[in-house]
Amino acid sequence: MGEKVFVFDTTLRDGEQAPGYSMNLEEKLKMARQIEALGVDIIEAGFAISSPGDFESVRSIASIVRNATVCSLARSLKKDIDAAYEAVKVAVSPRLHVFLATSDIHLEYKLKLSRDEAFERMDQMVRYASSLCPDVEFSLEDATRTDREYMLRIVEGAIKAGAHTINLPDTVGYSTPGEIYDMVRYVKEHVPLTDKAVLSMHCHNDLGMAVSNTLSGLEAGARQFECAISGIGERAGNAALEEVVMALKTRKDKYGLETGINTKEIARSSHLLSSITGVKINPSKAIVGQNAFAHESGIHQHGVMAKRETYEIMTPEDVGVTKTNLILGKHSGIHAFSRKLEELGYYDIPDEEIKNLFSSFKALSDRKKHIMDNDIIALLDSQRSVVKEGWSLKDYVVNSGNGITSTACITLEKDGKKVQGVAIGTGPIYASFRCIEKIIKHPFSLLDYQLDAVTEHRDAQGQATVKVSDGKGTYRGRGLSTDVIEASLLALLQAVNRMLYEKHGEAEDDEFGLDEGDMLVGHTDKEE
Ligand code: MN
Repeated sequence: MGEKVFVFDTTLRDGEQAPGYSMNLEEKLKMARQIEALGVDIIEAGFAISSPGDFESVRSIASIVRNATVCSLARSLKKDIDAAYEAVKVAVSPRLHVFLATSDIHLEYKLKLSRDEAFERMDQMVRYASSLCPDVEFSLEDATRTDREYMLRIVEGAIKAGAHTINLPDTVGYSTPGEIYDMVRYVKEHVPLTDKAVLSMHCHNDLGMAVSNTLSGLEAGARQFECAISGIGERAGNAALEEVVMALKTRKDKYGLETGINTKEIARSSHLLSSITGVKINPSKAIVGQNAFAHESGIHQHGVMAKRETYEIMTPEDVGVTKTNLILGKHSGIHAFSRKLEELGYYDIPDEEIKNLFSSFKALSDRKKHIMDNDIIALLDSQRSVVKEGWSLKDYVVNSGNGITSTACITLEKDGKKVQGVAIGTGPIYASFRCIEKIIKHPFSLLDYQLDAVTEHRDAQGQATVKVSDGKGTYRGRGLSTDVIEASLLALLQAVNRMLYEKHGEAEDDEFGLDEGDMLVGHTDKEE
C-alpha cells in the first residue's frame, strides 16, 4: 500500500463557475452523487455566500452525501464563514474552506491590506471558523507568487489558528513543476508544524501544466490535491481529476501513492458532466476522450493485438469504458433491457422509470435496427431531464427546400389545451423556433444550438442541445429523436419550459451582494 492522498473535487465550485458549466440544483445533486460514487474524499459543493441558489445547493448536497466530506468556500469574512457553516453543518463530515490572498500584488491592489493586517485577518478568521467546525482548510490565494518568508509565517499561523489543511494554490497557472516542487519542500522543511496539517495543491491550467504541477506538489510531500472532472474550472481549468488519479495509479512505481478513487467510475463521471452541461469532451482528451484508447495506425493495431502492453499503458476497462456494446433490438425484452442498464452501471433505477424507459426503447427500436449503448444512455439522460410542467409537442409539419421559404406549422399542448402556430424562416430550425416563440408568447434569444449523432450509422438518433435567454436567465434543453427536427423542437421546449416554469436558469446579473464595509471592495471574484 502506498501512502494515501486525499482527493478534493471542486467540479461543483471552481468548475461550475466556468462559463458554460453552471448547473441547476437538480443537476448539481445528480453530479454530487456521481462524485461521491467516484470515491473522492472531499466535495467542494459551492460558495455558500455567493447567492441564495449557491447556498441552497451546498446545503442540499451536504444533506445527501454520506461518504465524503462536504465543504463550502468562504472568504476571510465572518459573514462568509457563517453562511458556509450554515450550509454545510448538516453534513456527516463538514469542512470550511477559508481563503485569503497572500501575494503582494493581491494584497496591495485587491485587498488593500498590509502583510501584517492580512496575517491578523487570517488569524481571526481561521480561529473563528475552527470555533464552528473542527475541519478547517485555509488557502493562501496566489500562493505561488507569495513572498516565501511571508508564506511561512501565514502557514505556521494558520495551523496554530486551527487549520488542518493548508492549500497552496497556483491561482493564476503561472508556475512550473520544478517551482512547485521547491515551494512545497521549502514549506515542509521550514514549518515544523506541517506534520500537524495536510498540504494541498490547487493548480490551474493556463500554461497546460496543472496536472504536472499537481504531481510535482505530491512528489514534494503534499497529500491533498484539488481537481475537477474533465479539468473544468476558471479560465483554462483545474487539474483534471482523472489525469492525476490515473497518473498516480499507472505510475505507482514512481509516485508510490494511493487514492481512494474507484477508477471504473471515471468515464461515467465525465460523461455525466458532459451530458448535463452540453459541453462535449475533446476527442483527444487524456483518459476520457473518445480517442484515448483508439489505435489508428496499422503498426499500433498490430502491436496491441499481439500484446496489449505494446501500446496500451492502461486499459479502457480501468476507467470504466465498457467495451461490450451488446446490441439490443426490437425483440429484446424488459429483462435484457434492465440487465443492460446494470451493465452500463445504472443500478438504482426505480421500476417505474425502467418501464417508461423500456417503452421509449421499444418506440426507438421501431425506427432504428440496432440499439447501441450510447442510445440507451441518451434515452436515460433525456428521460431524466424531462421538465414536468409546461408545453408539450403534439404534432408538427416543417417544410424546407432550395427555392422555397421554410415553413413550420406546430401544435403544442398545455393543461389539455392545444395551440397551433405557423411561422416562416430562412431555414427549418429558424422557422420552427419562431413558431414556438409565437405560441408561448414569451420572447427569447437563442444563444447556442448543437446537433450531434448519438451513435454511428445513418439511422443514428440525433441529439439537439439548445441554450436560450430571456434576459433574466439562460436555460438549457436537450432533445432526442431519429428525426433531427423533432430533436430540435424537443430541446427547445425543454429549455422554454425551464424558462417559464422552473426559473432555475443561470442568472445573468451578478448576484453577489457585497456590502459597503466589505474587505474585498469592488471584488466579487469567487476565485482563489
Ligand atoms: Mn481555482
